Amino acid sequence: MTEQINAFKMAQAQFDNVAALLNLDPQAAAMLRWPTREFRFQIPVKMDDGSIRVFFGYRVQHSDVRGPSKGGIRFHPSETLDTVRALAMWMTWKCAVADIPLGGGKGGVAVDSASLSINEQERLCRGWIQQIHRNIGPRQDVPAPDVGTNPRMMGWMMDEYSKLVGQYTPGVITGKPVGGGGSLGRTEATGFGAVYTIREAMKYLDIAPDNAVAAIQGFGNVAQYAAIEFVEMGGIVVCVSYWDRDDQKPYTVSRDDGIDPQFLQSITDVYGTIDKEKAQDSGYVIEPEEAWISKEVDVLIPSALEGQINAETVQDISDRVKIVAEGANGPTTPEADAVFAKRGVFNIPDFLCNAGGVTVSYFEGVQNDMNFYWSREEVLSKLDDKMTKAFHDVLEMSEREDVYMRDAAYMVAIEKVVKAMELRGWL
Ligand code: NAD
Repeated sequence: MTEQINAFKMAQAQFDNVAALLNLDPQAAAMLRWPTREFRFQIPVKMDDGSIRVFFGYRVQHSDVRGPSKGGIRFHPSETLDTVRALAMWMTWKCAVADIPLGGGKGGVAVDSASLSINEQERLCRGWIQQIHRNIGPRQDVPAPDVGTNPRMMGWMMDEYSKLVGQYTPGVITGKPVGGGGSLGRTEATGFGAVYTIREAMKYLDIAPDNAVAAIQGFGNVAQYAAIEFVEMGGIVVCVSYWDRDDQKPYTVSRDDGIDPQFLQSITDVYGTIDKEKAQDSGYVIEPEEAWISKEVDVLIPSALEGQINAETVQDISDRVKIVAEGANGPTTPEADAVFAKRGVFNIPDFLCNAGGVTVSYFEGVQNDMNFYWSREEVLSKLDDKMTKAFHDVLEMSEREDVYMRDAAYMVAIEKVVKAMELRGWL
């Protein structure tokens, strides 16, 4: 995606488009085009050398009509109020499509967290909570990890909030470490959830899972668990790709008879770099990154970055591809979408396909409220039920209204949000 694209303008344009398709009440549309609340605050952090550095933090609550706002905190150098606004709006639609009783929110800090020491990271996390704790909480707005943040940071944030309000409050934040209020099954939730929707799409398209072949972009959290579950389902994954920190460029790692995701996981470091030599010794071929997109496969699972399937790269996609399942947020540009629609490629849109993460985050909050924790099997079986139901709700809308799956997902989500507004007497 080019830098000129403003994510919030894009999110508003997508919303306007579907509002028109739905003939939405203009008053409802006026309320939903903008976030309900926005916070921008400074976080002064004492650095290890004794100096003070000022960071800027954000929290945007797009909607809380269906329940407390929900969404991650990104630590990223190019974070802006507009990216946070867009992501907050997308969270509202994601929670609605997955039918979990939460709204949409997002937060961030403009920072490269890898440039901070662990102690500086902790002070930044605690500082973020100190500035916003009056406006978040289990019944107001529940943050979670996102790009650049991790479970340990969520543990510090939960601790800071609990100290400030004077009581142990694990439900203020999700994505906490297991044993520190986190839920089993959260790590694998997004990748597994994506494959549950792929399984349903394959049933609909009459593709047998046993011989189905997939290519995956990325080998981070989403991609690793999508690969594991796709193989578990009986399919073959012919490649994954990753960013190589040593060479400062991405590669595709392939094996025509199928990769072994657990083996590749075992030779991947904590930053996501696969050991090329060990992979080659075990019969894998290291190819240029773009190789993943032109493989002869039934399913493409982009699970790395936004804008990867665009007007140019879509031309390299094989005619064999029947399903594009968007593990990543925003991997397909509107130009590529138009090509897929013409070719009849089945799309599982991002905020449906990758809703497994927020669904298990919601389960984490439920378990925190009960102070009673479920087994991994119980979490994953509830996740499967939710993802399967969400997929079929969108498919049904797509067939009934004769619209593309992405538009159908928006229609399902916006209808649910507007219904809640009516039921609360806002309209
Ligand atoms: P991650 O940081 O764990 O993994 C990202 C992967 O992309 C890594 O394997 C990295 O090596 C790879 N990568 C980076 N640059 C690349 C390049 N130029 N070419 C190829 N690969 C490259 O992140 P993640 O949590 O797996 O998230 C991936 C996507 O899924 C993001 O769009 C994220 O917003 C979305 N998502 C994640 C979750 C979740 O629960 N983790 C939930 C919903 C959506």
